[in-house]
Formats: sequence, C-alpha cells, structure tokens
Amino acid sequence: MKESIIIGLLQNIGILLGFAMLYEVAWLKKEDPKSLWSKVISGITIGSIAVLLMYTPWTLITGITFDTRSILLAISGMFFGFIPTLIAMLIAMVARIMLNGGGMLMGIAVIISSGTIGMLWGKYHQLLRIKNKYLDLLLLGLVVHLAMLGCTSFLPGDTFLITIKAIAIPLIVIYTPGTMLLGILLLNQTRNVENRFAREKLNELERRLSQILKSGNIVSIILDTSANIVFCNQYLLDLTGYSKKEVLYHNWMELFITKDISENVDEIFAATMNNKNFVKNFDNEIVGKNGTVSFISWYNTRLYNEKNEVIGVACLGVDLTERKRIETELNELNNKLGIKNQQYKTLNQELVIAKEKAEESDRLKSAFLANLSHEIRTPMNAILGFTELLRTHELMASERESYINVVHKSGYHLLSIINDIIEMSRIEAGYTELNSNLVSLNDLFDELLQSLVITIPAVKPIQLKFNKPEKNLTIVVDEVKLRQILINLISNAIKYTEAGSVVFGFQTEGIGMLRFWVEDTGIGIDEKHHKLIFNRFRQVDEELKFARGGFGLGLAISKAYVEMMGGVLDIVSSPGKGSRFSFTIPFVEAEPVVLIGKKSVRSSKPKSGTRDYLLLVEDDDLNFQYFDEIFKNEKYRYIHAVNGLEAVQICEKNPEIKLVLMDIKMPVMNGFDALKLIRQIRPDLPVIAQTAYALAGDKERILQAGFDDYITKPIQKDELLHLLEKYMS
Ligand code: ADP
Repeated sequence: MKESIIIGLLQNIGILLGFAMLYEVAWLKKEDPKSLWSKVISGITIGSIAVLLMYTPWTLITGITFDTRSILLAISGMFFGFIPTLIAMLIAMVARIMLNGGGMLMGIAVIISSGTIGMLWGKYHQLLRIKNKYLDLLLLGLVVHLAMLGCTSFLPGDTFLITIKAIAIPLIVIYTPGTMLLGILLLNQTRNVENRFAREKLNELERRLSQILKSGNIVSIILDTSANIVFCNQYLLDLTGYSKKEVLYHNWMELFITKDISENVDEIFAATMNNKNFVKNFDNEIVGKNGTVSFISWYNTRLYNEKNEVIGVACLGVDLTERKRIETELNELNNKLGIKNQQYKTLNQELVIAKEKAEESDRLKSAFLANLSHEIRTPMNAILGFTELLRTHELMASERESYINVVHKSGYHLLSIINDIIEMSRIEAGYTELNSNLVSLNDLFDELLQSLVITIPAVKPIQLKFNKPEKNLTIVVDEVKLRQILINLISNAIKYTEAGSVVFGFQTEGIGMLRFWVEDTGIGIDEKHHKLIFNRFRQVDEELKFARGGFGLGLAISKAYVEMMGGVLDIVSSPGKGSRFSFTIPFVEAEPVVLIGKKSVRSSKPKSGTRDYLLLVEDDDLNFQYFDEIFKNEKYRYIHAVNGLEAVQICEKNPEIKLVLMDIKMPVMNGFDALKLIRQIRPDLPVIAQTAYALAGDKERILQAGFDDYITKPIQKDELLHLLEKYMS
C-alpha cells in the first residue's frame, strides 16, 4: 500500500476516533442529549467532521480519492438518530458540491445512502433479530458499502469500471469492518457511560438506604452465613450499650442471645441459611451489655450473590420492649381482675345460696309454725271440745267413756308433738347422747307389734307383721332410741298405707352389722323426694299432711339417731309401689340375761297392821289434785310437801313414811338436792321421781342421781299404782 493511503487512512481513523470521543463527551454525558438544540449542535459537529474527512482523503488511484464519510454518516445515523444525521448529511453535501469534480454526484449519493441506511438501521435493526451486536454492525457496514459500490454508477462512464475494480476490495475488507469497529467503540462507550450512571445511582441509593438503616428507632443488622455481624446500625448500639467495635464481626448468637432461647433462634437462622422454611417474621429477646433485655420483633430478608447463593440475612427489628412491658402489666392486671371477678362471682354464688337458704329457712319456719299451729290446735280442739261436752251434757256412760278416750288420746298426741320438737332441738344443740343397755330384739319387736297394731284405724285393712327370725338376738344398744326409730318408721308405714301390709324385722348383715327394716304397700315416695324427707319439717305432700297429720320431724329424728349409733338410714321406694325403710347399726351380741333391777333388791315386806304413808312432793296445785284423786280411791295415805326442803323436813320427822314420790322441778329446793339430803337421813327409803322431763336421757340422769325409779308426767294411773304396789307392798 502506498504511503499516502496509509497516512490518509490513519488521518481518517484519527478523525473517527475524535468523533467517538465527541460521542461520549458531547452526546452521552449530556444531561439531556435529546433536546433539539443539542441535536442541532451534534448535527453541525458531525457535519464538520464529515467535511474534515472529505478534506483529508487519500488517493487510491490517480483521480479517485477516498474518505471515510460513509462510515461516519452510517454510524451517526445509527447512534445519533435523524436530526443530527440529516444536518450532518446536509453540511457534507454542501461541502461536496463546493469541492466539485468528477466524483461529485457519486460523493453526494454516498452521503445520502450511508446516512439514510444508518438512520434506518438505527431505527429498525431490531426487526432483523440479530442477537450478536458485532454481526449487526458488520452487516450495517456491508449494506452501506455495497450501496456505496452501487453509487459508483454516478461516475462518468470511463471511470466507473476502473473505480469499481479499485475500491471493491478495500470497501469490503476495510470499510465494512471499520464501520463495525467504530460502532462497537460507540456501543462500549454507551455501555460504559450507562454503567457509570447506574453505579452512581446505585451508590446514591446505597448511601440513602444505609442512612435510613443507620438512623431511626429500628434495629438493623446484616449477618453472614455464620451469623457474624457484618453490619449494625447505631440504634442497636444505643439499645444494647455496646460499641461498634465490640459488635462488628462478632457472632450474633454469642453476643445477644441468651442460652434458654438460643436453640430456637439457631434453628430459625439455620433454616434461613439453608433456603428452607424461611421465617420472615419472629420475635425474640436480646440481651445488652449490662444485661438489659429488649424484646425485638424481626423482619428478615435473605441476601443473595450474583450466583443466587444465600450469603447472609438482613434483619430489621422493631423494639417492642415497652409495648411488651405494658402488655404484661395489662395481662397481670387482667389476671388480677379475673381473679377478683371470680372471687366476686363465688361470693355472689355464696350470697345467692345463703339467700336461698335464708328464704328456705324462712319458708320452713313459716311452714313449721303453720304446722305447729295446726298440729297443736287439732288435738287441743278435741280436748277442749270434748271436755266441754263432758261438762255440759247429760251423758250415757258409754258416751262418757268414748269422749274421755278422745281427750286422753288427743292429750297423748299433743305430748308426742312436744316431745318431737324438744328432741329435735336437743339433737341440734348436741345434747343427745347414747345410753346403751341389753335389749332382746324379739321381745322389743313383739312389744312394738302389740302396741302399734292397736293404732291402725279400723277403716284401714292393713296387716301388721313382725317377721320374726328363728334365732333371737340380745344386743347392747340404746333401747329408747332404737324403739323410737322403729315406732317412727312403723307409724309412718301405717299412716301412708291405705290397705295391704306393713312388715318389719331385722337380720344380721355382714360381720357385726344388723339391718332393721320396715316395709309397706303404701303410697310410696318419688325418688326426687328421697333425700328431702329426711330433712326436718319436710314432707312430700304439703297438702296431704293435713289429711294424715304428721309434723315432718319423725324421719329427721330417726336419721339423727341412726347416725349417732353409727349406721345409715336408707329408703327404697317408688310411687304406688310402697316403701322400704331400713337402717344398719353395728352391734355386739350379748349373752341373754334375766335382768334384775335395783328395785327387786329393795322390795321388803311391810309389817302387817301398820298403815304406810307416802310422801307426795308436788308444787303444782292441779297435779296435786290429780294425785289426791288417785290416792283417795286407792286408800293410800300420804303427806303433801310443796318443795324439796319441806320434803326433807317431813322425812326427818315422820319415820312412818315408806316411800317418796318426788317432783324434780320445784321452788326453794329441787328434787335432786332434796334426794341427796333424804339419802343422808334415810338411806333405804325408796324415792321415786315423778317428772315432766320425759325425754331420752332424762331417765338416765334421774336414775344416776340415785332415785329408785321414775315415772313421767302425764301420769297414768295404772302405771303409778303398779309402781306403788311394787315398792310399798
Ligand atoms: P311426718 O310427721 O310428716 O310423717 P316424717 O319425717 O316421719 O314426718 O316423714 C316425712 C315425710 O316422708 C312424710 O310427710 C311423708 O310424706 C313421707 N313418708 C315417710 N314415711 C313414708 C312411707 N312409709 N310411705 C310414704 N311416705 C312416707
């Protein structure tokens, strides 16, 4: 190659490189290269470069000069776009016209074709879908320079062929790759500048982000895959009291996490690093330098490198310590209130129960009073009514007898009511105790059968039966109470049975247990009442009680007695099918003995002919009159004393007194004290207590005091005479 070609080429390359620099400096870096003004300036500049190229050509063969305006304009079209390129083309064309010469037309054609192809290429080259940018630019160069070859047809006829021959190879071999190289240069510049912009933007973004992370009241940390702290913000340091040096590149778990939760936090961290079960949100406590505990709610983001491998985790944490404290306080308060609430509820329930009890007891009291009134008025009415009849009417002996019977029975009924009431209050006050003695059960039951069978009203076809066992039993038991229980149960059975049978008996059950039972074919009791009827003053049918009488105390007393004896009172019953009441008591079998009391020892034969006196100690005038009546008819002689002291004095003065009938409750001196003194004067004188203390326990108390015997008021004439006979005959 000739020297001039090389120089021309080098000049052209230099100019094109200048163009490339211009592209970077004046176009790419411009804040707004797309403004019209900028486009015009660029167009003028490129046009000037084209002119410069045209004035630094090289001569291929004499008469044919070359420059690289085709490359310049094609690349300008592609990279700068329409307006700058059109302006440049215009300037180049003017310059070419001014240069004149044979190649003018071709020169203009080359300017037009290469600029136009460049512009169109820039706009539409994507349509060709060429991925490789080298190939894309190479193709541009080829098309532009094939067109340039075509432009040789504008040369005058004789130079056309020579020119083609001369330029075909350089165009293809130098200009085409030259276009590609210039294009690549510009592309790289574009990318570099874009990269730089991007980096600057990224830096700016990073700067802002880290400003956000560093400040504020959000804890932010970045941990690597081994949980070493690679970043932490000031807030964490403020919160924990560590310096940056103490924190950075130390292990998060070792520095901030307590042992008791470390396993859990380790697990979450490992899962985050292993790409599985990534826990984005969780709360935990961290411990500061001086032991202060902060409660942090974390939001975690996994960090990746460009190969998409996890390289760590960024954690943003909100300090919830204060909120947690308030929450805990609220919870505690809530719990306390809950407990208080519960206490109030319980109190309320207790109050409701107490109120119900009070109302119930009020109701029972009223019912009791109504019952009491009814129960007392009924026999009272009979007593008053019939005594009135006895007084005012002329009566036949049989009528008289039957009226007296009514009065008598009613009196007893009244007495039993009073006994029940007093006994119940004694039980409740805890005054009742057991007084055991030997009892032959068959004898007791026979006696009960005899005394109760006569109480069955004539209108009721009821068979009363004692289911007598073959083997009798003699046991040690409180006879009075056992008798009372059985009387209550059997009387109830008779009362609540219209027809059929009432059977009672006893049998051993297990070791050392006896079961007593009373069975009837009466009205029965619904199961819902089974518990209730054992309460005092409770009856199944409040209406019915008026019809049948009864006070609602019998079962309550019986139950209390059974329990005192160590047993249980049971009921099996259903309406219409009758009832079976039974109770157990522990027992010890005793040898059957013939009981000989003190009384028999005392019996002494009176001397014949002497008239015996008895001393009647009685403060009540009416009662005294009653005794007087009895003694008068029976020819007993007596001396009357109105109190204990008088009785002692009379005993002292009258050795002919053979027996004392002593009242207990008296003015001046009571019966017990009088007895003591009489015993000192006349130790052998039989003294019999006569008293209105008729309840269980009274008898024992009296006998214990040293009385020889005992008779209760109201006094039955036969019983009294029997006693007098026993001690005086
Ligand atoms: P009351 O003096 O009313 O008979 P109790 O305490 O002896 O008092 O009995 C309480 C209630 O139990 C009775 O009013 C009656 O309703 C019921 N009752 C007791 N024994 C029987 C029975 N053998 N059959 C049916 N009901 C009974």
